[in-house]
Amino acid sequence: MKIQKAFKFRLNTKRKDTSKLFQFAGCCRFVWNKCLASNKLAVKNKQKIAYYQETSFWLTLWKQSEEYKFLKDCHSQPLQQSLKSLGRAFKDCFDKKQPLKKFPRFKNKYKSSSFTFPQGFKINNNQVYLPKLGWFSFRKHRSIQGNPKNVTISYKSGHWYISIQTEQTVATPIHQSKTMVGIDVGIANFATLSTGEVIKPLNQFRKLENKLAREQRTLARRKKLSNGWKNQKTKIQRLHAFIANSKSDFLHKASTNISKNHAMIVLEDLKVRNLSKSAKGTADNHGKNVKAKSGLNKSILDQGWGMFRQMLEYKQRWSGGDVLAINPRNTSRTCLSCSHVSKDNRTTQAKFECVSCGYSANADYVGACNILRVGHTQLAC
Ligand SMILES: [Zn+2]
Repeated sequence: MKIQKAFKFRLNTKRKDTSKLFQFAGCCRFVWNKCLASNKLAVKNKQKIAYYQETSFWLTLWKQSEEYKFLKDCHSQPLQQSLKSLGRAFKDCFDKKQPLKKFPRFKNKYKSSSFTFPQGFKINNNQVYLPKLGWFSFRKHRSIQGNPKNVTISYKSGHWYISIQTEQTVATPIHQSKTMVGIDVGIANFATLSTGEVIKPLNQFRKLENKLAREQRTLARRKKLSNGWKNQKTKIQRLHAFIANSKSDFLHKASTNISKNHAMIVLEDLKVRNLSKSAKGTADNHGKNVKAKSGLNKSILDQGWGMFRQMLEYKQRWSGGDVLAINPRNTSRTCLSCSHVSKDNRTTQAKFECVSCGYSANADYVGACNILRVGHTQLAC
């Protein structure tokens, strides 16, 4: 079995190196944005989208032109890689099997600076050689397993990072546990397991939201691109990074724990994208309950269920377990005791009480047990 992993480290950079790194990232962002703009126009005019074959040809022409000859200062591979990822992003967003993928967006200087070398790089212990840029050392805090396939250099909140993606072949693992578990995800509790275990949510974002809003207002008062503005911008980026890191840490801990203890995990096949579709509605059809819905949206996105499911999926693949997604129909309305189905069984968000036999329990727990039951039925088929 082949598995891919990524190893991310902080790059040691000196001031003179960073201007070159920013230049590379800038060129990659430039070609991405330029091709995206022309593709957006094509979509609008119902014309064909230009994929890598075409855009790489444009790139060659741009390099020869007087106007865009600065692209020659960058190595050609990161530029091509950037166009390849744009092509991939277009393919993914039109793919119905991947409802979470969105239409590609323009890259912003203050939000994303990165570039990828698919080959030509060398890694020697804690040092990496990047074509046209030279040798850099990085803070290697863990060993790198597998064969390096590509490296991505990125800038975030004042520091440069290197992410090394590797591939390795391992013997097909056998999961150490034989149990199966159903998981119900919700707003009040992040997740409830059919074993009765409850994972409380991490509403870090909610708490930090006010702080973020305050800092944003300060930014709005500053003169754009002044030193004060840049400092404030960095402050906000650090806060964003802090929120993102806490969230990822929380999701990793929760998913590792579940994946370690259960060979088969059954989940509801929620289309997170549908749930969180813009509450605003269209120009002539204003969405209902805009306020209530946007509050719910914030919680849904904040919880990171999509990311949680992805983590469970790859962790199960590595450990020899599996994840089963089932149709969520009636999982919150079916009685565990007499199987009576009614929406009146769910008296409140938190309480389940059967109108037929009187069985009562926590609604999330009932949901998780029903999910497990459906999972068992599906596997038996
Ligand atoms: Zn009942």
